[in-house]
Amino acid sequence: MCIETKFLHLQAIQNVLAPYRYLYCVDLEATCDEVGDLESSRPLAVVPAQMETIEIGLVVMDLETLEIVDEFQRFVRPQINPVLTDFCKQLTSIQQADVDSARTYVEVGQELGAFVTRYPNAAWASWGDYDARQLERDAGFAACPTLLAGLQHFNVRKWHKGLYDIQQKGLKQSVEAMGLVWQGTYHRGIDDAKNVASIIKEMLG
Ligand code: AMP
Ligand code: MG
Repeated sequence: MCIETKFLHLQAIQNVLAPYRYLYCVDLEATCDEVGDLESSRPLAVVPAQMETIEIGLVVMDLETLEIVDEFQRFVRPQINPVLTDFCKQLTSIQQADVDSARTYVEVGQELGAFVTRYPNAAWASWGDYDARQLERDAGFAACPTLLAGLQHFNVRKWHKGLYDIQQKGLKQSVEAMGLVWQGTYHRGIDDAKNVASIIKEMLG
């Protein structure tokens, strides 16, 4: 990819962000099971179509300074599969007690709704399109409005693809390939969200 193409891509990102004061960097963790090879005879404890959010991590980036000015983190109690698989606990480091003592998706959604009113004129961003689809899936299960609905969503992985020649598989590998130091625990919503923010800061800074 030539320098010119990258420059135009960066300008395009700056243009789409120009109308906003804040960018919410979001990462969700959800119930899951190990999706092994398709020949596996073991039925999945959690089928992908029934994944439910168990953690919402969100950091508020001030687009004027590219600094994180606030954060929101909540565990969420899943309804369809309230018992986490060992695979899920190992992947996310989220424990059964974390979700047992957590509020429901609808309740956490109300808390988030109240939190974001402090940071108006915002869009939100996440690594890939999984998080946006998961929020829609959750809203379907809970029969409530989709969290962050009405706010523009940006896919940071797509931005990254337009700016860097080498594509890593995951968020952590991408952070490290950019020469940034990974912060916190991988596959924890709030830590993943902070690292998404560092990628954006590095891209735009
Ligand atoms: P992440 O933001 O990458 O931590 O992933 C979000 C959610 O996707 C996790 O909480 C899991 O529900 C699911 N997930 C991520 N990686 C895997 C994996 N290797 N196998 C199964 N589910 C996964
Ligand atoms: Mg994550």
